[in-house]
Amino acid sequence: MLRIALPNKGRLAEKALDLFETAGLKAEFSSQRALLAQLGPDFQAIFVRAADIPEFIADGAADVGVTGADLVAESGREVEELLDLGFGRCRLALAVPETSEIRHPADIPAGARIATSFPGITRSFFEAMGVEVEIAPVSGATEIAPHLGVADLIVDLVSTGSTLRVNRLREVVTILESTARVVVNPAALQDPERKQTIEELVTALESVLRARARRYLMANVPKARLEEVRAVLPGINGPTIVEVADDGAWVAAHAVVDANRVYQTIARLKALGAEGILVTRIERLMP
Ligand code: AMP
Repeated sequence: MLRIALPNKGRLAEKALDLFETAGLKAEFSSQRALLAQLGPDFQAIFVRAADIPEFIADGAADVGVTGADLVAESGREVEELLDLGFGRCRLALAVPETSEIRHPADIPAGARIATSFPGITRSFFEAMGVEVEIAPVSGATEIAPHLGVADLIVDLVSTGSTLRVNRLREVVTILESTARVVVNPAALQDPERKQTIEELVTALESVLRARARRYLMANVPKARLEEVRAVLPGINGPTIVEVADDGAWVAAHAVVDANRVYQTIARLKALGAEGILVTRIERLMP
């Protein structure tokens, strides 16, 4: 039995559980607020804070985990990233009060005081720049620090930038881009049996991510326009063409298409005389 560490609450928790469930690994809790759950036949899930997950993986308390790339980097622990899950997208940015004259990192003077809940990443960033700064570690509400005179700058997570604007702060530079990742203890990959189970898990999760970005499209098209339809519906290996039980003038074309191109594809098919167009979600897609 392998152990998976999943975020117990916060921005990543629900999406992680949902992804596993779609991949066929539904969490079976033994009680309402359980910190443990069975996740299919091969995995036991433990629910912990996203920030603690790199630590749990590195220590071997769990074999695999889902957490933010920012938290992995901040932990400084040796864990291996296996998959980018795409959700939980944010960036760790350096920001200054709107009135500041700092426009580039190079404008930051030695001795500047920086409030952040990412002291490790911030320290490495300034060490690489060769600028000595003072770091004020905080555990939240970082944006308020410059207004309290606690710090000159901040390093904080940003997704839309609206929190920075509300607090009259301006972004200077992105230090790190983050999304949720599947991480593993490198030692778990040394054991062939565990390695195989982990690889199967990654394949299953990847198939869900791939499927989410695609749609299955079906349309009845005039047989005479088939060549043009083929150009509109490339599919994976070209569209699947199915006979329609009529007088032979129509065929049904089926293909997997990019979700963000469905709208355009439908318009093009209609222009070719297509009818009965049907678009459905795909649960999992293995190439
Ligand atoms: P939590 O504190 O449990 O809600 O999880 C925070 C993690 O969610 C961060 O470390 C990031 O990996 C991710 N995240 C995504 N967008 C944001 C955001 N706008 N602010 C903070 N965290 C975010």
